[in-house]
Amino acid sequence: MIITEQKPLEDIEKMLEGSDKIVIVGCNTCAALCQTGGEEQIKEMVEKLKEKKQILATIAVETPCDMRISKRDLRTVKKQIEEADAILAMTCGVGVQSIADLTEKPVIPSLDTKFLGMVERLGRFYERCRMCGSCNLFDTGGICAISRCPKGLLNGPCETVADGKCEVGGFKNDCVWVQIIDRVKQFGKLDNLMKYQPERDGSIKATLGEVVWTD
Ligand code: SF4
Ligand code: SF4
Repeated sequence: MIITEQKPLEDIEKMLEGSDKIVIVGCNTCAALCQTGGEEQIKEMVEKLKEKKQILATIAVETPCDMRISKRDLRTVKKQIEEADAILAMTCGVGVQSIADLTEKPVIPSLDTKFLGMVERLGRFYERCRMCGSCNLFDTGGICAISRCPKGLLNGPCETVADGKCEVGGFKNDCVWVQIIDRVKQFGKLDNLMKYQPERDGSIKATLGEVVWTD
C-alpha cells in the first residue's frame, strides 16, 4: 500500500492562494486506509477550508492512480471542474499526476507520499520495499535489507551488531541481517547469501519508514 501523510494545513493554504473555487478529489483506497484522503478526511478538509474557499464539489475516486477510473469518476464533476480555479488532490503523488493528466486545471497535492508500506494494523505502517527494480527477496528469505537495514547494507551485517540488535536507534531493533541469516538457515539456503548483491540506484537509501498514528 502507498503510505501518505497529510501536509500541514498552512502549506495547503499557501498552495491554494489565488484559487478561490476548488474541487476536492480524494482516494478511496490507500489514502482512505491511511485516513489521509478518504470520505471522512474530505469532509474534514471541507470544514477547514469552507470559510476561505468555495468548494464546488468533492469526490472520492476509487483508485485515482488508475487513469481509467479517474476519467470515469471525474466525469461526474466535469462541470464543477470546468468552473474551478484548482483541484485539491487528497491522493498520493501518482493520483495527483493522473488527475493532472486528465484536466487542464492546476492540481494541488495535499498529501506527502511516504513509502510503499506493510500494514500491521490501522495506524501502524512499516516501509517494506523501496522499489529497487531488482528484487532479491528469494535470496534473502523474503526479508528486504534495502528497506530495512538503516545502513542499506546488501551483503551481510555490519560489525556493530550486538546480541542481534542494531545500533541505529540504540540497540532496540532487531538487526535485519541477523533475521535474514536465521531465516535462510531455516530453509537450508545459506548459499543464497553467497551471491554478491550490487548497490542499487544511489538514490535508494533505507530510511526505516514508519508511520504510527499518535491518536
Ligand atoms: S529487494 Fe526490497 S526494495 Fe527491491 S524490489 Fe524487493 S522488496 Fe523492493
Ligand atoms: S546492525 Fe544490522 S540492521 Fe543495523 S545497520 Fe548493521 S547490518 Fe544493518
